[in-house]
Amino acid sequence: MLKDYKGACHIHTEYSDGSIPVSDVIKSAQDAGLDFVILSDHNTFLPKQDGWEGWHDDLLVIVGMEASPRRDGHLLALDTQPLTDNRYVNSEKYKYMTSKDCLDDVVSNGGTAFIVHPLGKRKISFSIILQAWHDWEHNGFAGIEIWSYMHDWIDDLKLSNLWHFYRNPNMQIKGPDPELLSLWDGLGQKRRVAGISGLDAHYRKIPFTKKPFFTYEELFKTIRTHVLLESDLAKSDEAIQSVCDAHKEGRCYVSFDLLADATGFNFFAYSGDRTYYMGDEVFNIEKKIHFRIKSPHLAKIKLLRNGKIYSESEGTSLEFSSAEKGVYRVEAYMEGRPWVFTNPIYVR
Ligand SMILES: [Zn+2]
Ligand SMILES: [Zn+2]
Repeated sequence: MLKDYKGACHIHTEYSDGSIPVSDVIKSAQDAGLDFVILSDHNTFLPKQDGWEGWHDDLLVIVGMEASPRRDGHLLALDTQPLTDNRYVNSEKYKYMTSKDCLDDVVSNGGTAFIVHPLGKRKISFSIILQAWHDWEHNGFAGIEIWSYMHDWIDDLKLSNLWHFYRNPNMQIKGPDPELLSLWDGLGQKRRVAGISGLDAHYRKIPFTKKPFFTYEELFKTIRTHVLLESDLAKSDEAIQSVCDAHKEGRCYVSFDLLADATGFNFFAYSGDRTYYMGDEVFNIEKKIHFRIKSPHLAKIKLLRNGKIYSESEGTSLEFSSAEKGVYRVEAYMEGRPWVFTNPIYVR
């Protein structure tokens, strides 16, 4: 049985435009009960060079970097190698490169890349102009951010509802964009592409208000990625590598834990004497593959094949057998609200 560890990804600090020190991020993550956080300051790995990566009591801090070219799509880079040659430290150059060149650079240096906020965003009234990713044929990225808290929240934001959105942020969370999910389902039919979550947390004080726009402690209770590991996330040197590998291989799921902590949610399959987990590719199945879904809470569980609902039920489990090839993944809803989105099991 795999072990479930939860964490938050895509977090900005004062190393770029987050205006919050890493020590405060750590404190908030510990208070929210997270097992790990992945920092992603813009175009810099400096927090890594400054020694923030590693264990802080029971919290594992992983320093990633958001390569954010000025006029192109953005990507999260994870690199578990030591920064011996300073190749990434202060990666200001990424600002002026194309996203394709950034991706090639990260991959050729042995890093892992995830496309973040892949559809981009345009909100002229709030001076937000983010370019969408466009090079979907490129097979250098390991995964994409399928659900981002800030980008979900901002989707229907207007000047007229700003106060309401500010007061009730979590009520605005609608789930991963259907257009993005369908793009992901399409990519999965060609190759394995992991789906991860992000917060895109930027700590901002607003003039004349007591409460900042999203405290990190509140954000850390919302959308998380749960990684599934074979061994304990012990305080070892391999911990960073195992969490990064689980992201890269899609051995993880994304959940809106504010509704209920999804720890223990499980989607696996077996065929013959082999068991397959999220992110696994299955080749040449013997007759049939049997899917099993288990939920720690009552939910509406949907098994999808190539993006279409294949089987669904209300409860804490779902079992289904199939002889068809396809990309199988699970969505779960709680009282009509989006809760869990798993990575697929690919039957080739
Ligand atoms: Zn970005
Ligand atoms: Zn960001």
